[in-house]
Amino acid sequence: MQEAPGYCLPCDKKVLVRRAGMSERANLFLTLATVGIWLWPWILMTIVTRWRCSECGGRAACIEANEFGYLKLALLLFYLLPLFIWSIYELGRRLLEQ
Ligand SMILES: [Zn+2]
Repeated sequence: MQEAPGYCLPCDKKVLVRRAGMSERANLFLTLATVGIWLWPWILMTIVTRWRCSECGGRAACIEANEFGYLKLALLLFYLLPLFIWSIYELGRRLLEQ
């Protein structure tokens, strides 16, 4: 279960919002541990699960600005790191060839 600051319309106030699933830190760890495979179920869960008000249980909005912060970071690492390593390798190979 994830918890974050949010806003509930029926309650008309700032509340604690909850949604099913693991914390982003746990998801990020799993993504790294599974070499990026976990990224896809994570993205799917992020889309499917909705934030709910902790007081009335109705749909509520999460007001955390960087809700996808860790997700973006994980995506960036997953796609840019191999590219970065490959370019270093390629650079080294060309320098050795000269
Ligand atoms: Zn509410």
